[in-house]
Amino acid sequence: MKLKGDSSTTRALNRRLILNQIRRNGPMSRSALTAAVGLSPAAVTFVTAELIAEGLLVEGEAQLGAAGRRPIPLEIDYASKLSLGIKVSVDNIRGVITDLSTRIIGEVVLPLADHAPDTVVRVVAAATDHLVAEAGATRDRVIGVGLAVSGQVDAEKGICRQEQRFGWRDVPLAGLLAELLDVPVWVDNDANAYAVSQHLFGHGRGRHSIAAIAVGRGIGAGLVSNSQLHRGASGAAGEFGHSFEQRGRRCECGRDGCLETWCGDIGLLQTWRERDPGSDGKDINDLAAAVAAGDPVAVAIIEDSAQRLGRHVASLVNVFDPEIIVFGGEGVRFGRRLIDPIRKLLGEYCYSGPRPIAIDWEGTGWARGAAALAVQHFFNFEATGGYSPERKDKDHHRAA
Ligand SMILES: [Zn+2]
Repeated sequence: MKLKGDSSTTRALNRRLILNQIRRNGPMSRSALTAAVGLSPAAVTFVTAELIAEGLLVEGEAQLGAAGRRPIPLEIDYASKLSLGIKVSVDNIRGVITDLSTRIIGEVVLPLADHAPDTVVRVVAAATDHLVAEAGATRDRVIGVGLAVSGQVDAEKGICRQEQRFGWRDVPLAGLLAELLDVPVWVDNDANAYAVSQHLFGHGRGRHSIAAIAVGRGIGAGLVSNSQLHRGASGAAGEFGHSFEQRGRRCECGRDGCLETWCGDIGLLQTWRERDPGSDGKDINDLAAAVAAGDPVAVAIIEDSAQRLGRHVASLVNVFDPEIIVFGGEGVRFGRRLIDPIRKLLGEYCYSGPRPIAIDWEGTGWARGAAALAVQHFFNFEATGGYSPERKDKDHHRAA
């Protein structure tokens, strides 16, 4: 059994090498692949033939090359498989079904009546059924479900360690969901999932180290280092929003003065009420509208938030030294009022010079991030992590 395992590991590694090379670079000929991945021409021919037979690779139009040769480019058939991504929020869950490039094919939002794990898992299962049916897909094309939640997650075991907003401690989310679905399930922190998607197909594509910072109701950072997600010793890396900013506001995590209490949606609304009592009862979209209309109090609140955020992001850059910073989440709704001051601060306080900053204006980043969890495992053929009721019996990753 050991030998068989070893040979399938080599096979999996070679497939991973070739698929990822094409994912990063776009269509490539067999000879270009041979040069790039360091396998023999025979091995490349064998692996690519297998991937073509499985429908994962397709041959493109032959290109006229040097000396009259016409190499045939090979491209990933991103439509050949489907991924499901679900972002769990306080009031609802947002689900998407995507192709292997995390391009969205269908979307659904379902309300959450309460935060009992059973309720959340049932609603997520209903969303996946709806998405698969809407896309007219068969289950065998679905590579798995990625579930993104805020809070601390043990991604290896599929357990949410703590999530204060939901009152969760050690909830085996992936296991509960996999009992209802017959596909593999992965669960991760939402900012981590977001960083994975930006690394695979977003602004961080082709980079080795990125800091993806998501600002919305909460504030999180997903860090990719050496092309791997950095989780930390307890899975809590990137809990950026709980950095200490200023005393005077109690955070959902129980501490006093976390960055989130000043710069997250709820913190911004509290500041607005304090400075403009007339704003009582208004929501975050109202604040964005007031900023867009040039309301001086609203504008000052966002500029103040940008100063606070910018200082912390600059510290993060000095510690982590990423190639690029990606900003996403609902916070980008404040546009340049928020981003420009941050950019200026980074120019002043990044020790080794300012970094490229990419803004992800898409509102679908969270759910796409969740879908990227399954896609990442597909491209890496990882044999660990995630949860599936069948995983004890067969290696579903390899079968993918
Ligand atoms: Zn906190």
